Amino acid sequence: MASTGNKDQHNSAKRVAVIGAGVSGLSAAYKLKSQGLHVTVFEAEERAGGKLRSVSREGLIWDEGANTMTESEIEVRSLFDDLGIQDKQQVPIAQNKRYIVRNGVPVMLPSNPIALFTSNILSAKAKFQIILEPFLRKKSDASKASDAYNQESVGGFFQRHFGQEVVDYLVDPFVGGTSGGDPESLSMRHSFPELLDLEQRFGSIIVGAFKSKLSAKREDLEEAKTSVKRKALRGSFSFQGGMQTLADMLSKNLSKDELKLKSKVLSLSYHHDGKSTLDNWSLSYASDRDKRSQGSSFDAVIMTAPLCNVKEMEITKGGKVFPLNFIPEVSYVPLSVIITTFKKENVKKPLEGFGVLVPSKEQQNGLKTLGTLFSSVMFPDRAPNNLYLYTTFVGGSQNKELANASTDELKHIVTSDLRQLLGVEGEPTFLNHFYWSKAFPIYGRNYASVLEAIEKMERDLPGFFYAGNHRGGLSVGKSIASGCKAADHVISYLESSHQKLLK
Ligand SMILES: Cc1cc2nc3c(=O)[nH]c(=O)nc-3n(C[C@H](O)[C@H](O)[C@H](O)COP(=O)(O)OP(=O)(O)OC[C@H]3O[C@@H](n4cnc5c(N)ncnc54)[C@H](O)[C@@H]3O)c2cc1C
Repeated sequence: MASTGNKDQHNSAKRVAVIGAGVSGLSAAYKLKSQGLHVTVFEAEERAGGKLRSVSREGLIWDEGANTMTESEIEVRSLFDDLGIQDKQQVPIAQNKRYIVRNGVPVMLPSNPIALFTSNILSAKAKFQIILEPFLRKKSDASKASDAYNQESVGGFFQRHFGQEVVDYLVDPFVGGTSGGDPESLSMRHSFPELLDLEQRFGSIIVGAFKSKLSAKREDLEEAKTSVKRKALRGSFSFQGGMQTLADMLSKNLSKDELKLKSKVLSLSYHHDGKSTLDNWSLSYASDRDKRSQGSSFDAVIMTAPLCNVKEMEITKGGKVFPLNFIPEVSYVPLSVIITTFKKENVKKPLEGFGVLVPSKEQQNGLKTLGTLFSSVMFPDRAPNNLYLYTTFVGGSQNKELANASTDELKHIVTSDLRQLLGVEGEPTFLNHFYWSKAFPIYGRNYASVLEAIEKMERDLPGFFYAGNHRGGLSVGKSIASGCKAADHVISYLESSHQKLLK
């Protein structure tokens, strides 16, 4: 394996390998490069973006991966300010109009607590249970260290606070629509740590949420007095041209040598001569062009490939194999994304807004999809004026087999659901099917063991950092934050290594 590094180059810019050009890897690389470091991003696929994947064809624009994101994380706002991407952000039309199916028909999701009580999304009994939540304070007796605390499911937690109907008609469609998961398999601690924290502090979720909102408002006011920092855009948004625009903006400043596409990393080795903590990493990758493994030398590595791919790599430390058998098997959710268009005159009950989610209970009313985004209603540039473009999701942890169904079968399922929900007539004028065998990692009840394995890798392999959606959250915003944090860790690691060298 060739080594291009040189131990005499300590004063020159440090070299960092980033593995994976999804949004976390690209954000890490952008941050490192803007701090003057040399980065090389290795990406197995022929395109950058990972789960950001927009297609523009036949006058249509659609997303096969993430469709929208938020900028709640401070790292996202700061990255967007640096990128100057604000003029490309696209806010959906009428995004507050979101629907959930109840008894086979879409019902608008209440946008505030008062609307909840006039809406028919929940029965009178379930509404009453919500009103009582602050008084009943069903705080778990389990201590933070106990198995019960660590392993409580999302369904169990919300059932304790609000009852089963809220789980079935609000929580189930929400987790299905955002992670493809289901309330019983997901861990509360890993999926919604902020809510678990509210419970610990206030007993009641409603009281906790109310108090946190008040203190956030106060902080906003204070911040407004002291700084001119831009406030986060409210709600979800995309970009002109789809989410891929973000990946393109992040990769724009990387040269061909800095962003190596079709370069699947096969092995990594850490070799330490006892003198310097720098320049100790080398790697090999399969390049599509010449099918040969090649090597380079780096001071640090940021790994953003999914753990199932990391497990396939060979890692050596000091010439000996560093076995990865301590990484537990991660479960993933399979998902099919179906894009359809219909002539507007053939959609008899079109809805304005973001989209509709289908609770799994509604399968009893013949519905089989997880939900549909009203893509061209939100973003009119996604289809010509005479068409509606819809993005429908099928599969998830409760319907794994269906995710893998044939395009013909999925066409039938999607058309049938859209007929019932939106009154579409006839066949779609266009259809595109994209299948993700591993759309999302499932933050299941034993996910703590996955996080421990990631920490062990970072502890035992100096200069190795892990980022991406397997840690800290599944959303695009959380993945960006994870990439930016890993870049910060690399910078501090390299600074302290350099200081040690000078001593
Ligand atoms: C269908 C779908 C819809 C979604 N919708 C939303 C949404 O609306 N809003 C939202 O916030 N989030 C959404 N998400 C989630 C979000 O898109 C992802 O969690 C996020 O983009 C993950 O980014 P990442 O960089 O961590 O991982 P990835 O995007 O998975 O990137 C990892 C990269 O590593 C590469 N790689 C793997 N192995 C190797 C190797 N050996 N060598 C080199 N490269 C390798 C992969 O090819 C990939 O490009 C959605 C996800 C999916 C699948």
